[in-house]
Formats: sequence, structure tokens, C-alpha cells
Amino acid sequence: MRFNYFEPSSIKETVDVLHQGQGNNKILAGGTDIIIRLRRQASSYQGLVNIKQLPDLTTFSTGPRGGLSIGAVTRLRLLETSTAIREHFPVLLEAIQVIGSLQLRNMATIGGNLCNASPSADSAPALIATGATATFIDDGGNERTVPIQRLFVGPGSSLLGSTGLLLRIDVPEPAVMTGNNFERLTPRNAMDIAIVSAASQLTLEPTNGKVRDVSIALGAVAPTPVQAPRAEDILRNREPTSVLLAKAATMAMEECNPIDDIRGSASYRRAMVGVLVRRTLERAFERAQKRR
Ligand SMILES: Cc1cc2nc3c(=O)[nH]c(=O)nc-3n(C[C@H](O)[C@H](O)[C@H](O)COP(=O)(O)OP(=O)(O)OC[C@H]3O[C@@H](n4cnc5c(N)ncnc54)[C@H](O)[C@@H]3O)c2cc1C
Repeated sequence: MRFNYFEPSSIKETVDVLHQGQGNNKILAGGTDIIIRLRRQASSYQGLVNIKQLPDLTTFSTGPRGGLSIGAVTRLRLLETSTAIREHFPVLLEAIQVIGSLQLRNMATIGGNLCNASPSADSAPALIATGATATFIDDGGNERTVPIQRLFVGPGSSLLGSTGLLLRIDVPEPAVMTGNNFERLTPRNAMDIAIVSAASQLTLEPTNGKVRDVSIALGAVAPTPVQAPRAEDILRNREPTSVLLAKAATMAMEECNPIDDIRGSASYRRAMVGVLVRRTLERAFERAQKRR
């Protein structure tokens, strides 16, 4: 198979090459997904645009109280080994650590994980739970920033369209008494895709311990990674007792929209949403109590 290969040296040059290709030039980041698709001849791109060397997109920075600005081409392994992420966003660490293998995470990027727009992309629920945003250049050449959950349109489809470029992900700094957690269920312990994943973040009111803010995100149980807003409503401004956390988990089961496939039936997935959401809420609550 023959195709063109580009190595742009700036964001502008990248956007120009993408537009000239009219959807036939595809971004190559870590290549752990796109190279496999090319080898299987499952796609018909005419050109690859290597963005691994683009300045600004390959690293991340941390704000004074833990907020993150992550370039889209940051390798997962760099994030996994960050002490700031370990300290402030264990939810993100837990999601990244289960992606593929160490070798894969040395190559794969956070942007590639999101731009695949897979309903089971592990970083997606974790980032949604933290209230992160995605900044990208859209098909029309305009820079836009949206909450991560709005990036996804359907399985394999995102707001980036065929010529968009994801630039960065911004994760807001966590308020005091904030805790978070990610859990996933896979058929095998490693190198597998989630049957169900869940991530929760809870912020407690320091004066009375009630839930000030909460976010619950689910993977692999709908056409895109989703939030569970009615489950969140159950918890807001209430004392997070174990009974209330279990009630929110039951609501999340009702809110999700899973399908039957080779990895699991819809009814099994729905049941597992209940288990994982309860666990992530309990863990997030424990962690929030320790972070005054
Ligand atoms: C063996 C194996 C195990 C895996 N396990 C997991 C797992 O456990 N969990 C999981 O979530 N995924 C898993 N994956 C999928 C994949 O490796 C990850 O999603 C990875 O993060 C993709 O990142 P990448 O940089 O390699 O993407 P690439 O392959 O370079 O790109 C993926 C797609 O995103 C587009 N793209 C990349 N960056 C940008 C950008 N900045 N702007 C616009 N478009 C862009 C590319 O054009 C391509 O369509 C696995 C893959 C393999 C092969």
C-alpha cells in the first residue's frame, strides 16, 4: 500500500495539510491504533500526518493547586509517572494504568485515546468526571473548547470531523475535599477493552460534609462515553451515606443505554454499572474526606 507521509513543524502547517487532504490525510500520533487499522486495510487514507514532534503538544503542565493542561500528543506513560497526577487525580492515573501494556503506553497518546472516539476509551470517563475540557481546531479551521463529553458524537465519530486537530485537554484544579476514582471491568485482567467502566468525582462541603459537587461518568454502556446526571442529582447537597451512594448507583443503571455484544449482554453491563458506580463513589468519598 502506498500513501503520503507528512511531518509538519507547526500547528498551522498541520491544519493546512489536513485541509488539503480533504479528509484523506489522517493524523498519526502514537500510532497504536491507526497503524493497525492501516495494516488491516480497514481504512483508505491517502496520507499520514505525523504530529509527534509538534512543539507544545507533547507535554503537560501543572498549576499551583493541581490543575492540568495536557498537550494532545502527550504519551500516556509520561502522565502515568507524574507525581502531580498521582496526588491530585488518581482517577486519571487509574484509567491510564490499565490501557494496553507498558510498551503500548510508551507510544500511545492521550489525544489518540480520545480521538478514536471509542465508547470504551478508558481516559474518557476519568476526564469527564474531573470536568476537563478539550480544545481543538474544527473542520472549519476555528479553535473551540468544549467539555470532554461533548467531544463525542457517536462510536468512532467526534466533533473533530475528518480534518480537525485536538490541541489540548485542560483539567480544572480540584477544590478542597475532592476525591475521585476510576474502575473498569474487562473479560481478561490485561490487554483488553472494557465491558463497563465508571469514574466518579465528589467534592464535599467543608462546613457540613454534604456533597457540594459530583460527577459520574460511564464508558462502554452507550454509543459514547456519558455522564449520569440523574444519579448525580440524587447526591447533590445531601449527606453521602452508603444508602444514598447505593441509590445513586441504582439510578446510573437506569440511565445507561448498553448493547449486547461479544464482551457482554446489555443486562450484565447494566448490573455492572451499579457495582462499579457504587464502588467509585465510595472510594471518591473516602478520598475526599482525606483532602482538606
Ligand atoms: C493491544 C492494544 C491494547 C489496547 N488497549 C486499550 C485499552 O486498554 N484501553 C483503551 O482505551 N484503548 C486501548 N487501545 C487502543 C489505543 O491504543 C489507545 O486508544 C491509544 O491511546 C491511542 O493513542 P495513539 O496516540 O496511539 O493514537 P493513534 O493510533 O496515533 O491515533 C488514533 C486515532 O486518533 C486520531 N488522532 C490522534 N491524535 C489526534 C489529534 N491530536 N487530533 C486529531 N486526531 C487525532 C488519529 O488520526 C487516529 O484516527 C489498545 C490498542 C491495542 C493495539
